Amino acid sequence: MIVDNLPEGVLVVDSFNDILFANSTALSYLETPEKDIIGKNIGFGPVPGAIKTILLPKSIDPARQCFEACFRNLYWNGEASYLITLRPHENGKPTSILAGKSEIMDALPTIERSEECQLRFSPQGLILDALDISPGIFIKDPGSENNLSIFDVLSDEHSQLLKGKIELLSAYQPMQIFNAPYAYGLQSNQHLQFILQGFFDKSGEIYEYLLLGSLVNSFFPYSKESSVMTSIVDHASQPIAFTDMNGNFTHANQQFFNLLGYRSQDIYGKQINSILSSVHTPEYFNKIVTSIFQRGGWQGECWLQHKNQHIFPAEVQATTIFHKNGEVACCAIYICDKSELRLVENNLRHLALHDPLTNLPNRTLLLERLYQSIRMANKKEEQFAVLHLDLDGFKAVNNTYGHIAGDQLLKLISERLLTCIHKDDLLARMGGDEFAIISYPTEYMGLLPASVTAQKIINDLTRPCLIEENELFITASIGISLYPEDGTNATSLLKNADIAMYRAKELGKNNFQFYSEELNRRVLKRLDMGNHLRHALERDEFRLVYQPIVESHSRRIVAAEALLRWEHTQLGRIMPDDFISLAEETGLIVDIGKWVIQTACKQHMVLLQSGYSPVQMSVNISGRQLEQDDFVSFIEHTLANTEMKPDRLVLEITESFLMEDIEKNRKKLVEIRKLGVKISIDDFGTGYSSLNSLVNLPIDSLKIDKTFVDAMEENPHGLSLVKGVISIGHNLDMEIIAEGVEHNAQAILLETHGCDQLQGYYFGMPMNFNELCRLIDPLL
Ligand code: C2E
Ligand code: MG
Ligand code: MG
Repeated sequence: MIVDNLPEGVLVVDSFNDILFANSTALSYLETPEKDIIGKNIGFGPVPGAIKTILLPKSIDPARQCFEACFRNLYWNGEASYLITLRPHENGKPTSILAGKSEIMDALPTIERSEECQLRFSPQGLILDALDISPGIFIKDPGSENNLSIFDVLSDEHSQLLKGKIELLSAYQPMQIFNAPYAYGLQSNQHLQFILQGFFDKSGEIYEYLLLGSLVNSFFPYSKESSVMTSIVDHASQPIAFTDMNGNFTHANQQFFNLLGYRSQDIYGKQINSILSSVHTPEYFNKIVTSIFQRGGWQGECWLQHKNQHIFPAEVQATTIFHKNGEVACCAIYICDKSELRLVENNLRHLALHDPLTNLPNRTLLLERLYQSIRMANKKEEQFAVLHLDLDGFKAVNNTYGHIAGDQLLKLISERLLTCIHKDDLLARMGGDEFAIISYPTEYMGLLPASVTAQKIINDLTRPCLIEENELFITASIGISLYPEDGTNATSLLKNADIAMYRAKELGKNNFQFYSEELNRRVLKRLDMGNHLRHALERDEFRLVYQPIVESHSRRIVAAEALLRWEHTQLGRIMPDDFISLAEETGLIVDIGKWVIQTACKQHMVLLQSGYSPVQMSVNISGRQLEQDDFVSFIEHTLANTEMKPDRLVLEITESFLMEDIEKNRKKLVEIRKLGVKISIDDFGTGYSSLNSLVNLPIDSLKIDKTFVDAMEENPHGLSLVKGVISIGHNLDMEIIAEGVEHNAQAILLETHGCDQLQGYYFGMPMNFNELCRLIDPLL
């Protein structure tokens, strides 16, 4: 009874916007019996907390009156519903109906709406009724004939515009507001503003449209001083922001800040694209800006990006506001966060960004990642590669075995491709039988990880694919472009990878090509070498040479460093600098390194058994070997098998590798030291580590790099550096060895300053084992 007798009309609607209840006051306003109202749809979604001017559908309010409405959340019989209170609009006349958007429009007190009209039409476009028609808005008077279509009375340009807006209507966004600055018969300072509202029935179908047109004589720019405006914008329930005529943010309300995670100081002065996700291309952004500043506005759905990088879908409506003289003053942007409206946003996003057949990322996601990668690579001055892969002869598979088999093959291949890429790489299906990979540099791969991935794919595809009991053989052609050499934006990278892919096809398919010819040559040479390297161990092509290391004061040989040589049947002797990094990239170093250790230990025993003094054997160890789980046990076994005393074996580890992960390496070194084996740091001084970081490492000796030995004579700092290393090393109980000693003067200088051992061409070139034996003192 209390509710019934309230001076305000009260409606309760459920979450589908169907009326559950109307009080007597509401019924008397609407002049409709209760039974005709209950269950009817009000046609728009209430926005709790907002006060709006609304117009109800004719089926509910035959008189089409304007109401001031206020919305609240309500639990009605245990269901989430809305309470709507209604008051007749002040001037009673249905003029501008702005449900859902009224804050901002009502807040433009400076807008003079001199002429207006409203018009209802059916989903087929048939005009149902037209009110307050003013000249200039329509090219034909809609009131004069029966059975006119809305598109008959609008100019072509406006018809097109309207059709586009009708497409955009949804139950969530039942209203569109748009400007039409180039209207028929208008003066230059006049613009048309249209408001289109769709009314939805229960099944989500539109049963009626309302189009309001107003002839706007002049717009005044939004300014902070216009206090009514500011306060309304700031209290609006929807995120709203303003930009200046250049598209830079000038004002935004709290809802906007909440939605995007920015504060005013982060965003004012920034371009609109700073809230736009990088899913969108710069071209897309340009289109939006052009539309805003040249066509009076833009509306559409796009992905926005929160300050924390999270991206979400939003309906954005940008309305341009013009100066009296027709120039752009500013732009008002309303945002409707779609991520909440879409109940299954994540699923949708997944669907939007993935290929349904293979579940791989699709082109859109690939582009998103490409933009990100370009930004990151720019920051870190890194490279990455884009691989474009096209299956050879896939069409024939489809034709011969049918599309179902074709689909199965694509699925199988995508699974196999996934095993060929690195964990941070991205594999995407571009459509059809085309795939793309973004390949990032990895620790051991140095320059050319992409070629290794491409080769891996080509090798992997030599295995047959079992599809419906048929063994299918399929190959791929791959093109590779590199960032930044072959393109600095996503489009050119993809295009050039594509060009390279076509070259791979031309060259007989089943191969890969770099976009750059120079790289092709380099990679080919390296791959060729890689193939040879693979067989070098079996073919017994490796040799060890030894370079003597002498004690400074006596110049007696106390140790020898084993250095690897590859005696290639065709290419001749290959030096380690030309193949060690390749061996590391391919992982072959692990087996090669084992061979080096075994050979050095065996030859050491030959030395002893032949009656020579037991010099130490220094062996170079690659980081990749040290990382192997069985490294320590391998050393232990080798020592046991060759009966070599552990302290005669010295492992040289480069400073730069050691510093990559000091803690992890320290543990390994401790285990090695437990065996009694010595540890030496090679190339010391080139890894830029501080001596400090060495304090806690179990190290027996430091090898000062040749560059420092050279610098010693060249400049005074060089000498003090060497002196410093020697004295600190000694304090840490380490022996100091100088590498690359080429003259006696260097040897004397080093000895004077307390360097323990010397190595270099002056004392002996790397030599074969027999030559070494001749230089070493016999024991007897
Ligand atoms: P490294 O361990 O620093 O070896 C010293 C290099 O300097 C050797 O080059 C040696 O021939 C050269 N050298 C010695 N004295 C002089 C000198 O007075 N003047 C000049 N200009 N050079 C001198 P090499 O044999 O070409 O080895 C190069 C690098 O290859 C080695 O540097 C080492 O890092 C790596 N390496 C060699 N053998 C192996 C191996 O068996 N396994 C691994 N993982 N790496 C190896
Ligand atoms: Mg060495
Ligand atoms: Mg060295």
